[in-house]
Amino acid sequence: RWSRVKGRLRSSVGEDVYSSWFARMDLESLQQESVHLSVPTRFLKSWIQTHYADRVLSCWQAEMPEVHRIDLTVRSAARCAAPVRDAQAAPTEPRRDDHHHPRPAAQEVRSSAATPVSTSHDALGGSPLDPRLTFASFVIGRSNTLAHAAAKQVAEGRHGDPVMFNPLYIHSGVGLGKTHLLQAVTWAGNSNPDRKVLYLTAEKFMYGFVAALKSQTSLAFKEALRGIDVLVIDDLQFLQGKTTQAEFCHTLNALIDAGRQVVIAADRPPSDLESLDERVRSRLAGGLVVEMGQLSEDLRLGILKSRVTAARAHHASFDVPQPVLEYLARSITHNGRDLEGAINRLLAHSKLNSQPVTLEMAEREVRDLIRPQEPKRIKIEDIQRVVARQYNVSRADLLSSRRTANVVRPRQVAMYLAKTLTLRSLPEIGRRFGGRDHTTVLHAVRKIEGLVSKDTTLSDEVELLKRQLQE
Ligand code: ADP
Ligand code: MG
Repeated sequence: RWSRVKGRLRSSVGEDVYSSWFARMDLESLQQESVHLSVPTRFLKSWIQTHYADRVLSCWQAEMPEVHRIDLTVRSAARCAAPVRDAQAAPTEPRRDDHHHPRPAAQEVRSSAATPVSTSHDALGGSPLDPRLTFASFVIGRSNTLAHAAAKQVAEGRHGDPVMFNPLYIHSGVGLGKTHLLQAVTWAGNSNPDRKVLYLTAEKFMYGFVAALKSQTSLAFKEALRGIDVLVIDDLQFLQGKTTQAEFCHTLNALIDAGRQVVIAADRPPSDLESLDERVRSRLAGGLVVEMGQLSEDLRLGILKSRVTAARAHHASFDVPQPVLEYLARSITHNGRDLEGAINRLLAHSKLNSQPVTLEMAEREVRDLIRPQEPKRIKIEDIQRVVARQYNVSRADLLSSRRTANVVRPRQVAMYLAKTLTLRSLPEIGRRFGGRDHTTVLHAVRKIEGLVSKDTTLSDEVELLKRQLQE
C-alpha cells in the first residue's frame, strides 16, 4: 500500500517535486486511522507540512479511506542517512513498525559522507565574486543611501540576530550598483567565520537546481541552502521555468520562516516580475523594497575617483586630473558600467602610449560612451508656426490647399522638418497638414532633401529653422 500511495503522490506532484521532497519519506507505522511517516530533517518536515500536507493525506485516503491523520516526524540521525537513490528504489513491501530493519553500518558511513551542508555547499558553489565590489569602494549618494544602509545592516547582522527586513529587495536600472551592493554584502558576511552567506545569480540558482535534479542530489541542494544564514540572489528577473520558480518559492518561504536573511536584486520591482507567481511576488514585496535611482553628477564623480584610486594601487603613475574627472562625470550620465569603462580606457591608453591623461585624450577615448542629449520633443504645431513666421505666411495657408509658389515651398519645408525632427509617420504628418495624403508628404520630403544638397540658401534656411526649433 505504501508503495501505491507513493505512486499516487509521485503522479500528483510530478517527478521533480516528488524526488525533491518525498523520496526520503518513510512509513513508520500504520494504525487504522492514522499514519506515521518520517523524514530525515526538520527542514523537510516543515516544508512538507506547509506545502503538501493535504496532498499526502488525500493520496492515503485514495488507497485507504479510513485514514484521517498523518503524523510526520523527523527520524533519528542513524536512520536518516539513506542516500536518495536507495530511498527511491524503496522496497515494494509495506514496511511495518514491527519489523524495522536497521540499515547496515557500511551504508550509514557511505551516506553520511554524502550528507548535506558541506559537500553540497561545494557542489552548489556560489557565483564568482569580484574582489573590488566591497562596501569600501561603494560610493554613497542620494539615490542609494537607503539601499546602502539596508545592505550594510544585513551584512553586519550576526548569526541568530533577528532579521529586520526580509527579504531585502533592491531594484534599479542597469549599471546603478545592485551587483556591487550585493557582493559587498557577501564579502562582508563571509568575513565572519560563523556566518554563511551565499551569493547566487538567478541563473546559477536555476542551473544548480536543474543539475541537482538530474543527478538526484536535489535534496543536498536544498540542504545546502538550508545551512546558510544569508542567501543573496542577483538578477532575479532571469529566473525562469516553472519548476525552478516553484523551488525558489519554497526556498524563499523556508528561509524566511526560519529567520534566515534573503537579499535580492532585480531590474524591476516585484510587482513587475510578470513571469513569477503572484504569491512569490507578494512575498517579495513583503520585506523591504528599495529602489536605487539614477546616479547624480556628484555620485558619478565619486565613482570615477574611487575607480582611479583602485587603479592606482597597481599603476602608481596613473592619474586623472580633476577637470577630466569633472568632464567625464558631466558627460557620461547613464550608468556606472560606462564610468568604469571610461577609466579603464584612459588607463589602457595612457599606459600604452606612456602619456598623461588629458582632456583631449578623454574626449577622444570616451566619445562613444557619451549619449547624445535627449532631443527635445518638437511638436508639429511648433514647426508650422516657426516656418510660417519665417516665410511670412499664415499657418492656415500651410494647411490650406493653395498651390501658389510662396505657400508650396514653405509647406514642403514644414513637412520635411516634421519628418526629420519628430517621430510622426508620413500619414500622421499628412493628416496634420490639412488632411493630405502620405504620398504628398513623401514627395515634399524628397524634394527638400534633394534641394538642400544643392541650394545653399535653402539649406541655410532649413538649418536656421532647425536651430530655432531645437532651442
Ligand atoms: P547593476 O548590477 O545595477 O547593473 P553594477 O553593480 O554592476 O550595476 O554597477 C556597475 C558598475 O558601476 C560597477 O563597476 C560598479 O562598481 C559601479 N558602481 C555603481 N554604483 C556604484 C557606487 N555607488 N559606488 C561605486 N561604484 C558603483
Ligand atoms: Mg548586476
